[in-house]
Amino acid sequence: MMTPIPQTDPRAGYREQKAAIDAAVARVLDGGMYILGRDAECFESRFAKLIGVGHAIGCGNGTDALELALRACGIGAGDLVFTVSHTAVATVAAIERAGATPVLVDIEPNGFAMDPAALERALRAPPRGRPAAVLPVHLYGEPAALGDIATLARAQGLRLIEDAAQSHGAAYRGRVTGSIGDFGCFSFYPTKNLAALGDAGGVVTDSAELAAAAREIREYGWRDRYVSAVPGINTRLDPIQAAILSVKLDALAEGNARRQAIATRYDKGLADLPLKRPARRPQTTHVFHQYVVRLPQRDRLREHLRQSAIGTGIHYPLPVHLHPAYQGRVPVGPGGLCRSEEAAREILSLPMYPQLGDAAVERVIAEIRRFFL
Ligand SMILES: *Cc1c(COP(=O)(O)O)cnc(C)c1O
Repeated sequence: MMTPIPQTDPRAGYREQKAAIDAAVARVLDGGMYILGRDAECFESRFAKLIGVGHAIGCGNGTDALELALRACGIGAGDLVFTVSHTAVATVAAIERAGATPVLVDIEPNGFAMDPAALERALRAPPRGRPAAVLPVHLYGEPAALGDIATLARAQGLRLIEDAAQSHGAAYRGRVTGSIGDFGCFSFYPTKNLAALGDAGGVVTDSAELAAAAREIREYGWRDRYVSAVPGINTRLDPIQAAILSVKLDALAEGNARRQAIATRYDKGLADLPLKRPARRPQTTHVFHQYVVRLPQRDRLREHLRQSAIGTGIHYPLPVHLHPAYQGRVPVGPGGLCRSEEAAREILSLPMYPQLGDAAVERVIAEIRRFFL
């Protein structure tokens, strides 16, 4: 029997740092502070420093992080938030939970993130409502075209909120994703590049005012304990997860470098095959949350790899506007979402996580090559 190669393996990340993580968890349990407190604050300040901003506010998960950012910007009922359909459903769900209306625009011709040209068309002919924010997603770990997107947002006085849930440590023209918009929103879901061992998330911002607003909304809208200054929610960062994240933070750069090395190996091994590999752009540092190839025979290749005990993923099989929950209900920008629909039919995420060894990567490459023989 062949050893299975999973598409991702959060347990491998735990095992690599088991002693330090176990000690951190035991320390929190012994400390007796089980809501926020020093461990949450310590992670927040280290994470803010890593991203290069003044403030980080931890919360329950990445979806809450997006909602927190929107609400802290004062975005709610009657407001339009321009985002993409080719993303985790969480992006769109968070906009609706904040009370705003998502407007979905298509992705770039040779990439997977928001197309600035499609955004421009949508901004010129918006549906009913007040344009309030642009929310690009740095999907798979590659920064969206933030230069053009930020220019369009600023020209209309709109907020720029980055969904950086898949791009911890990625950079656009040397600036770390999450630090460029009014807010950067992160998930620390167990498979993400910076991963908790449970649910966790956070927002970052350089604005002291926006940080204070997010901090209040995170915990019932309290300014003083037990007194709500504004209507809030409860989405606190669990200190056990915060302590784990502080351990994992030290391994992020190395983990991202390993992901990039695996991507380079895939690039070389698959170079002459009739499939599309991820585009490499000079202005971005891609951190390969996923390594996604495109081909019309996607389902057949997936089955071929499955029979060789190689796991793959599809991120995501259906663009959000085609989910039963959103179909025919969520406004779509002019020009439609053809590229998003086409991508969903052709994408395949290959095994990708820092502990994936070279021999396993070579086996994935060899099996893909065998498929095309
Ligand atoms: C993971 C993810 C989220 C949501 O994060 P959760 O922690 O699962 O709530 C949001 N957006 C994107 C792009 C994601 O990948």
